[in-house]
Amino acid sequence: MRMYDIISKKKNGEELSKEEISFFVKNMVSGEIPDYQTTALLMAICINGMTEEETVNLTIEMAHSGDFVDLSSLNNTVDKHSTGGVGDKTSLVIVPIASALGGTVAKMSGRGLGHTGGTIDKLESIPGYRTELDPKEFMRIAKEVGLSIVGQSGNMAPADKKLYALRDVTATVNCMPLIVSSIMSKKLAAGAHNIVLDVTVGSGAFLPDINDARKLAESMVNVGKAAGRNIAAVLTDMDEPLGHNIGNNLEVIEAVDVLKNKGPEDLTFVCLTLASEMVSLFSGKPSSECFEDCKTVIQNGKAYEKFRQMVIAQGGDVSYIDDTSKFKSAEFSCEVKAAESGYISKIDTEAVGISSVMLGAGREKKGDPIDFAAGIKMIKKLGDKVSANDTIAVMFANDKSRIESAKRKFESAITYSDSYSSTRKLVYDIIR
Ligand code: URA
Repeated sequence: MRMYDIISKKKNGEELSKEEISFFVKNMVSGEIPDYQTTALLMAICINGMTEEETVNLTIEMAHSGDFVDLSSLNNTVDKHSTGGVGDKTSLVIVPIASALGGTVAKMSGRGLGHTGGTIDKLESIPGYRTELDPKEFMRIAKEVGLSIVGQSGNMAPADKKLYALRDVTATVNCMPLIVSSIMSKKLAAGAHNIVLDVTVGSGAFLPDINDARKLAESMVNVGKAAGRNIAAVLTDMDEPLGHNIGNNLEVIEAVDVLKNKGPEDLTFVCLTLASEMVSLFSGKPSSECFEDCKTVIQNGKAYEKFRQMVIAQGGDVSYIDDTSKFKSAEFSCEVKAAESGYISKIDTEAVGISSVMLGAGREKKGDPIDFAAGIKMIKKLGDKVSANDTIAVMFANDKSRIESAKRKFESAITYSDSYSSTRKLVYDIIR
């Protein structure tokens, strides 16, 4: 088999066989195939697409290109993945809910990427919380406590690492089969039998358009099923930040509020929907029934207790969770005032995320330190009526010099108008 012929076949719009895809992935990872041939194939895939069968074969081959986590000794394993958002702290809430209802969540999460935050950075804002556990300890905690969230380690899906780096510099990121195989190869390698995908839609989402997001969701669900997993995708709104808080310890505080049954309505609803899909997948019960069960474990404190147990097991100081006022606030804060009277009719959520990165809540480049207390509290949200000069948000940072430019970025993200009407929904659809 020759890579030249595989590129030529895809250039001519033909379907690649399982053997050809396997040859490509194996030899690309081993370094036999030079980058110029890999990128030629990536471009041909972008232009001519892939059939569902090719996408399945590519994903499964990529998933097996490195370490494959074996969770078969655990019961009811369930995982969740989000395509990214701003103020998106749902994992911190739904993992304990699913665990409180009999699921086992042995989860590997990521750090902030671009304008979106990452679960690992958020958890590291809890003093002492260890996100790097050796595989034995990770499995022990998952087994004994029912949940563990750690950072990605080892050599999972190296094919994706290599392909993503090349896609990033050859204008081939935005290509459906490549996005599907990238996301799903990592999820399959992470080992859970049940998977819920949160596919965000709107101005802060990776794919803002609902039709694109739906196509992505459908293709990922198809791949998951073909790989023998139970899977569902929830299309959720990201036309504004989720909840009120953006930034690492601010988001932990808000997630704990939801677990203590005093969280904001939008965040609570989205969390209950995602968690009920997780529980429905491993229990076989209808989602509507699971939704009520999820509410119950919030109301009776069982989900909160699971979160506490995970924090303790991973070395975190649980007194910060019991009393979130212990989290150190940023040294400097600044109110953002409404530029005019009217309704907040549009929020450029990506720009809000970038503003929070500018404050120090995320990284401008790999390896940058994070200011755990930096971030934004949204006082007003989409559809709220404001008068000129009302406070619409508060910005926090320990580095005062970051605030002015971040504030300008935030102000540019807000549109006012004389009226507001919307067809927005918090949850657009669930694809099973
Ligand atoms: N996230 C990923 O992990 N991969 C993509 O290709 C796009 C988003």
